[in-house]
Amino acid sequence: MTYDFTTIDPLDWSTLQPHVEALLAAPLTPESEYAWLKGWSDLSAIMQEERAQISRAVSENTADPEADARFKRFIGEIYPALAQADQALRQKWLAFDGAASAAETVLIRRRFQSEADIYRAENVPLISQLRLLGKRYSEIVGGLSITWQGQDLTIPQAEVLAGDPDAGVRKGVWRLVSDAFLAQRGALNDLFMEMLPIRRRMARQAGFGDFRSYQWQALGRFDYTPAECAIFHDAIAQEVTPLASELYRQLAAELGQDRIHPWDTSASAPWQVTIDPADTPLAPFDDTAVLEAGAQRIFDQVDPVLGGYFADMRQGYLDLGTRPHKAPGGFCSSLPISGKPYIFMNAAGTHRNVRTLLHEGGHAFHFAESFRRQTLLWNHNGPMEFCEVASMAMELLSMPYWAAEAGGFYHGPDLNRAITEQLQGLVFFLPYMAVVDLLQHWLYTDAPEGVDPAAIDAKWSDLWDRFLPGIDFGAAQAEKETGWHRKGHIFGAPFYYIEYGLAQIGAMQIWRNARQDQAAAVRAYRQALAAGATRPLPDLFALAGARFAFDRQTVGELMTLVKQQLDALAV
Ligand SMILES: [Zn+2]
Repeated sequence: MTYDFTTIDPLDWSTLQPHVEALLAAPLTPESEYAWLKGWSDLSAIMQEERAQISRAVSENTADPEADARFKRFIGEIYPALAQADQALRQKWLAFDGAASAAETVLIRRRFQSEADIYRAENVPLISQLRLLGKRYSEIVGGLSITWQGQDLTIPQAEVLAGDPDAGVRKGVWRLVSDAFLAQRGALNDLFMEMLPIRRRMARQAGFGDFRSYQWQALGRFDYTPAECAIFHDAIAQEVTPLASELYRQLAAELGQDRIHPWDTSASAPWQVTIDPADTPLAPFDDTAVLEAGAQRIFDQVDPVLGGYFADMRQGYLDLGTRPHKAPGGFCSSLPISGKPYIFMNAAGTHRNVRTLLHEGGHAFHFAESFRRQTLLWNHNGPMEFCEVASMAMELLSMPYWAAEAGGFYHGPDLNRAITEQLQGLVFFLPYMAVVDLLQHWLYTDAPEGVDPAAIDAKWSDLWDRFLPGIDFGAAQAEKETGWHRKGHIFGAPFYYIEYGLAQIGAMQIWRNARQDQAAAVRAYRQALAAGATRPLPDLFALAGARFAFDRQTVGELMTLVKQQLDALAV
């Protein structure tokens, strides 16, 4: 049996329903199972494409009423019906005894079983409600701007000035950006306080004692536990924080300062020092066309097949620049009907933008490689923790081609600075990640039911002091304790953040291997990408040449390697 979905309008449920009913009515036998799964997968692909296209439209223009209406219609009307249909289809398949246990389907079954176990019809409207609240966060933060010397700037545009060599400019811009966020302090607190009880209620309705255990299962975290996260946090405190503090001290000394102030760091990535001891900040491109062409030359050299994927995306699947009413941030999404990945970002000429494009490029290649090898939608990309290995490893695998002579962006000493910044970023990120993760472990397990924004502020501040003592807020208490307002994940994607830390440890191991043999490391990387979601995390890490381990020794060894490289660059 094959399924024909040509008459479907994804925003009109009445055109979908007959197909769902046909799948539900079709007899499942060992012979028909695969075609049935493929039919369901193809139907889901139509819906995923629609959802990704709508997200693309609302991100490209947050003030577009038509896109907004499509978004609300999808989330409000289609998503609930779709979630119900998926649940019924999952139940049907899970109840089928004769199911094949092929490598292609065994992990899909494990995930679906887990999702079915936590599914509650009464939670569907709560999930929709949380999505809409998450969108409100984007609207609030995306709408922020500052006026600097008569010019209206978006926050990403203001970021460029955060790297200005003149401390007066940095401090002035930081003041304005901070004021813009602080003006929304009440609104962001209220928004979060609206989300918190909904999350707790969802967990209770699904039979969990707390939201953390619910979310662990919702995020499909089969290969590690909260206790292992705690081991990772401790390893970071022991092995990474001291090195980070040392690097912050060095940077401060080179700048002629006694310490690193918050205005020396990025507004959206507050662990990253934006100011460079050299006279001018890195300015790798002035136009997104230059960024695009440089990235093409770099990807072509990492691997011609990967470069080919990027060339395809340049035909309408990139939105790289920044402009008013564009949502903040950067992301890559998968379009399984178009068969293409899509990259969205807010480039304004910084080195960080270059890194973002290389990073999102890694995500794009993950989709492209797995899309080519894997037939079922659910096997595209991979577990989140490995998605970030794909992207972070691409940042590191591309480093040999960052030099202008190699087709990249940087001449002479700028190259050293760019690589130094990249390696320092590996050190600085992990403590910040631990702060974001630990805040949420606390919020959803230990914090009292009646926790208020002031208590969250205080906890954030304590964690900051433990993990990031190298960035000193001094008397700027309000700016320090509201740092969590700037971390969209805490609002829109609870607990989804340690993935970046776990993945970074994987990516750093790939980088360590590439330093011995670049070609072999890229081969292993592509092989792991192509496996999509068909293997558990420890196997995917192994395919890529890494170990899925986060203990003090593993973390310590990688920090030693980074330190050695940084010392060599400083000579
Ligand atoms: Zn990413």
